Amino acid sequence: MTNKYMYFVANWKMFGDLRTLNSLDAVIKFSNFNKKNKFKIVYCPPNTLIRPLSKRFKKTRLAVGAQNCHQNENYGAFTGNVNASMLKNVGAKYIILGHSENRQTGETDKLINLKIKIAIKAGLKIILCIGETLKEKRNKKTNQVLAKQINNCLKTIKNKSNIIIAYEPVWSIGTGLIPKFEDLSKSVFFIKNKFGKKSPKILYGGSVNTNNITQLKDINSLDGFLIGGSSQNSKKFIDIIKKTFN
Ligand code: PEP
Repeated sequence: MTNKYMYFVANWKMFGDLRTLNSLDAVIKFSNFNKKNKFKIVYCPPNTLIRPLSKRFKKTRLAVGAQNCHQNENYGAFTGNVNASMLKNVGAKYIILGHSENRQTGETDKLINLKIKIAIKAGLKIILCIGETLKEKRNKKTNQVLAKQINNCLKTIKNKSNIIIAYEPVWSIGTGLIPKFEDLSKSVFFIKNKFGKKSPKILYGGSVNTNNITQLKDINSLDGFLIGGSSQNSKKFIDIIKKTFN
């Protein structure tokens, strides 16, 4: 059983409508009654649900985050986009940046670096996703990739107090596969070491579910989990939190 302050970040991806939000009452109730375990729950829904969710989470231990933003600080001619301040304005406190699903459609470390700077300026806390592809893992390039992503995405950002790192191996997202205990421990150690004494909190993400959480929770250096698919079901999400502390 861990006595640490743990983060449970729900990445809803492109999921959910206004009716879906009713299912979160169970999570609110669970967190209200569970005072003995130290945890923070952050829901990152699609932008359409940030405002209603932030209203629903008032006076609870739950917070809302966004999944991405445009890098422009001000309003502009960017059809279909929103910037970090606009997300903050409707209630987002956190933002996921650098998710591999966005990197796969062309988002570069340089662009992520810009987004991080603007989002910090807007007052958001950053959940920066990093992780290697299967090919990179097979070629034993994991550490090299992680180091490069950390260096480039956080370039010239001195104050890292509002940054959380989510280690998400690309090959584990949505596949049901998770890294071997030893490999994951080594990667988390590598990331922590890269920051020295002032390491940000490190989450693991990639196919976390109600079964494998019993193994994952034993990696003591982790500060929590970024959960995609399993977070779309409140019962499963609560179960993951409960099992983390058991
Ligand atoms: C994610 O999208 O960040 C993620 C971890 O997804 P899943 O849990 O579905 O693998």
